Amino acid sequence: MSKDAMDRIVSLAKRKGFVFQSSEIYGGAASVWDYGPLGVELRRNVADAWWSAMVHARNDIEGLDAGILMHPRVWEASGHLSGFTDPLVECKRCKKRWRADHLEAGGLEDAGCPRKPSVAPGGHGDCELGEPRLFNLMFKTFMGPVEEDASVVYLRPETAQGSYVNFLNVQQTSRQRVPFGIAQVGKAFRNEITPGNFIFRTREFEQAEMQFFVRPGTDDEWFEYWRDERMKWHRELGIRAHKLRFHEHGPNELAHYAKTALDIEYEFPFGWQELEGVHNRTDFDLARHQEFSGKRLVYVDPAGAGRFLPYVVETAMGVGRAALVALVDGYREEEVQGQKRVVLGLNPKLAPVKAAVFPLMKKLGLPEIARRLQSELRSARIPAAYDQAGSIGRRYRRQDEAGTPWCVTVDGRTRDDDSVTIRDRDSLQQVRVGLGAVAGWIRERL
Ligand code: ATP
Repeated sequence: MSKDAMDRIVSLAKRKGFVFQSSEIYGGAASVWDYGPLGVELRRNVADAWWSAMVHARNDIEGLDAGILMHPRVWEASGHLSGFTDPLVECKRCKKRWRADHLEAGGLEDAGCPRKPSVAPGGHGDCELGEPRLFNLMFKTFMGPVEEDASVVYLRPETAQGSYVNFLNVQQTSRQRVPFGIAQVGKAFRNEITPGNFIFRTREFEQAEMQFFVRPGTDDEWFEYWRDERMKWHRELGIRAHKLRFHEHGPNELAHYAKTALDIEYEFPFGWQELEGVHNRTDFDLARHQEFSGKRLVYVDPAGAGRFLPYVVETAMGVGRAALVALVDGYREEEVQGQKRVVLGLNPKLAPVKAAVFPLMKKLGLPEIARRLQSELRSARIPAAYDQAGSIGRRYRRQDEAGTPWCVTVDGRTRDDDSVTIRDRDSLQQVRVGLGAVAGWIRERL
């Protein structure tokens, strides 16, 4: 898929109300995006699919929703204050900034020198790239009315720390035994040096992270387990298998807390990039919180199977990034009966609208029947749209672009035998279903 295809996806996302530039009427806030009516549904559906697989379907993972603001000592203990940095390189001539590690890796497509003609950073004779300097990615703000050093707090750059400091709270109240996990979905903030590629890298984003606490010595096995589980999840969501791969971190890529780490990567139009990380964080975080807080975080097995500081295997996915993968992977342009159509082939589970109901004509009582059907679907918790504008063909196209899997048409025959036509977005096949059976028919397929 070309870069051009990415532009078409971005423009579709805006045209259909998936994603808008933040504060657009003021010229836009750099790298912040707002999710519109369809986008917010898509993003919630991604998060819900994750939550149901990670929390609801399992006995060994509990949910948590910790605050974005935490005690500032958390970030000293976690190592983020001293170590959550990216190497920043600035060109003294044009003032453009890059991440040194991205330049070494060959640079992303959008990381070129801004001056014409286009060349790699540093490529013009008079470019002056400075030495890399470390830049901390955490956003700072103040807690309370006084803006002084003592009241500095940080917007969390990951949800994980909330799970570590609550490890014993969750374990004891839920009466879980190790191995077990804590899952969170929530906002995280990073003052990225080079945000970009639409919603791929932003400064405010949502994470779906799970910390799995295990007995030391079993961590390598659990790491492999979670690596495979997470890949399976992406595939089962319908992401094409050949677009997904593992990338193991070499010694120079490992984060300060990690013993082993790998990325699940997706092939975006701008290259293979991380979609999710799986990390063996050892007992680094719990040991540090124990040291910095002075509180014991040792796990005492209720069945007398020992006391120890658990190791942690983490899975960390960006929800917006996974939504972008769904958009990119599902986007197709094809020809149907000599006409071009754009389709978002989203998994029905992720589709913002599951069904659209059309009256074939604006007469004979068809709109009333269609409206009634739409409201029945809504009562059955199936997000359903209604559209009576323009030809049926145009209405199909509108729904194809929104990723709606099924279109239901109420026509003259409906009045005689209470049946409607359901048209499938991908196969284009049409079936006749009884009015009262539509909700069940759709539910079965979700
Ligand atoms: P990178 O090295 O690309 O900056 P990372 O390896 O630090 O990313 P993690 O800390 O492992 O990223 O974050 C877990 C997940 O959160 C990532 O796989 C990604 O999906 C998502 N994520 C991280 N940073 C951002 C961001 N700036 N914008 C959107 N999603 C992000």
